[in-house]
Amino acid sequence: MTRAPHQILIIEDEPVIREVLRVLLVREAYRVIEAPTAARAQIEARNHKPDLLIVDLGLPDGDGLDLIRRIRAWSSIPIVVLSARTLEEQKIAALDAGADDFVTKPFSAPELLARVRAGLRRGARAPSGDAPLGFGAVQVDLAVRRTHGAHAEIHLTPVEYRVLESLARRGGMVVPQRVLLREVWGPDRGQDTRGLRVFISSLRAKIEPDPRRPRYLVTETGIGYRLCPDDAADAATAGPSLER
Ligand code: CA
Repeated sequence: MTRAPHQILIIEDEPVIREVLRVLLVREAYRVIEAPTAARAQIEARNHKPDLLIVDLGLPDGDGLDLIRRIRAWSSIPIVVLSARTLEEQKIAALDAGADDFVTKPFSAPELLARVRAGLRRGARAPSGDAPLGFGAVQVDLAVRRTHGAHAEIHLTPVEYRVLESLARRGGMVVPQRVLLREVWGPDRGQDTRGLRVFISSLRAKIEPDPRRPRYLVTETGIGYRLCPDDAADAATAGPSLER
């Protein structure tokens, strides 16, 4: 398989972790640029216009969150945060600052690569004409709003389609609850996470082989959800990392 040589900027002050990331990404045929500081990162990002950033939040010359806000002021490049900060509030703060997704240290290689692929897909995503989403035996065609199971058509409600659309637009990246609520119901329903959970359960009952152990519509506890439809590349290498 040939892959366009995407360029990834690694912003990480720890040389050992930078090296691990570089080896991992180069092995997947990505081109890699490295920056050990926030200041260097801004220069490299402007000079090289990479396709994706991997950002460590704890940098010697500033907080990664500030760096993300600064880059977001001029660029919509996909940003994956790599951080030892495990608290939900800190992940939400990173998403609020403009990050697209996060990986928690210590990270697994398949998980990191899956996040990178999702980020690159988000960066390249066409606004319309997407292929149907596959969830095992279930196929969802968002363009015409039809869903088929192994033997028969499955009825999804308009709200369920809107939830799937909002998740699918992020191509496998985490979508915070409040973003889903705003996109599906508008700005007035911002706090109704209980209502959202009801729709998520009913969707899982329709698309998941085992709704009690979801593998396609995955919960990120305290943060939101991500949609992981079948994908030849992801299915081969990233399956285990999605089952946390
Ligand atoms: Ca660090």
